[in-house]
Amino acid sequence: MPAMSFLSDVPSTWEVLPDAFVRGISLVTIPNSGIAPLLQLCEALHSTQFEEPEVIRLRQMAQARYMLQFAASQSPHYRKTLAGLDIDTACASPEAWRTIPILTRSDLQRADPPIFPEYMPIGHQVASEVQTSGSTGQPVRVRKSAFSRLFFRALAIREQAWHQRDITKKLASIRANVKKESRENWSSAVSHIFRTGAYDCLPFVDITEQLAWLAKVQPHYLLTYPSNLLALLNAAAEKSLRLENLIEVRSIGETLSTDLRERCEDQWSVKVSDLYSSEEVGNIACQCPENGRYHLMEENLVVEVLRDDGTPCAPGEIGRIVVTDLHNFATPLIRYDIRDYAEVGEPCTCGRGLATLNRILGRHRNMLRTPEGEVRWPLTGFHNFDEVTPVRQYQFVQSERDLVEATLIVDEPLTPDQRAALEGIIRKALQWDHRLTVSDQCTPLAVGVNGKFEDFVSHV
Ligand SMILES: [Zn+2]
Repeated sequence: MPAMSFLSDVPSTWEVLPDAFVRGISLVTIPNSGIAPLLQLCEALHSTQFEEPEVIRLRQMAQARYMLQFAASQSPHYRKTLAGLDIDTACASPEAWRTIPILTRSDLQRADPPIFPEYMPIGHQVASEVQTSGSTGQPVRVRKSAFSRLFFRALAIREQAWHQRDITKKLASIRANVKKESRENWSSAVSHIFRTGAYDCLPFVDITEQLAWLAKVQPHYLLTYPSNLLALLNAAAEKSLRLENLIEVRSIGETLSTDLRERCEDQWSVKVSDLYSSEEVGNIACQCPENGRYHLMEENLVVEVLRDDGTPCAPGEIGRIVVTDLHNFATPLIRYDIRDYAEVGEPCTCGRGLATLNRILGRHRNMLRTPEGEVRWPLTGFHNFDEVTPVRQYQFVQSERDLVEATLIVDEPLTPDQRAALEGIIRKALQWDHRLTVSDQCTPLAVGVNGKFEDFVSHV
């Protein structure tokens, strides 16, 4: 049985900030008002993770009942879509739950009638609004409550604790929409309660500049997007650059492939831990420290993985992800189709009752559709490109049912032999006998406005 105290179980390097507790009180330890709710939530999440799946499910449905009742009365959108729904019945069984209508991104985007509630429950207030651009250029607006931000922080802290990170070490992050800066602490959720090490941050500048920056900063932890990690690995291999202090790479923002994970582990001898999140609902799943499965953040979200017919996928099956945010009253997201696909996992052997995913596969538009009618997640074969020539970046676009166009970013124009060799690798990886064009260029491909990049996009 795990110990049930968060603060006594955190890694030994985690030192509580000196002003975390009220001083001069001997009767009881009282956290300062600024961190008390966060600490309380960390404490709760420390024990709920080990509850039995049935208990977790019951808790979820008790909270879902609040959310549905609130949405049905305060949100014009749900007043319409949940009209006539018996909420108690809907929350009483998984079958009944699935009669609740799915919220699509288009519904959310149209927002007619508005989804935002007219009043907030006592103790909740709107704290911020995010506008997500999305890879298909359909922006949606989601308001976040202060409490949902609190949940986000507590889950982020738990993820750090799972991986036993030494938060006194140096963290570097390379990501979109940030400015270059150095700070004295990690400036992340964990820094609200604990003393953290230095933090250096860089936007997506030229890859050579990124490498030079990393060589100077020499971080212990590196946080970045998978596509950027690939570019870094390629550039570092060429310069034989090793990041001597590096302990772990943390990937966010895009789908992390097994290929890339292995490549990073081989080349830099560090582990890669991935976090699956979305701007709309925050952390959805993070990797189990013991076996790499993705644990769902079920205290905050109901996550369903559904087949095309709407029934739940069994372990090993791939389906679309539908999420319900249990705590963000500022924008009720009930059975929201987040448009990602994932493979359902078995219950984890680590003792945590939180359900698992084996892998996250990305968007519907990242699937290959063959003229024969097969639909599958494509392998691009980039692991083998280096046998022919260094490929800095690549993107495959399926523009027609029988046509895939590959664009490879290389330093020197491809020779006919190289092109033929690369075409062979791509055909084999994609299992593709139809039309394939391979073009090369020296200028990098642009990433989306959110800094995200998709290496396979289907337009069919
Ligand atoms: Zn686990």
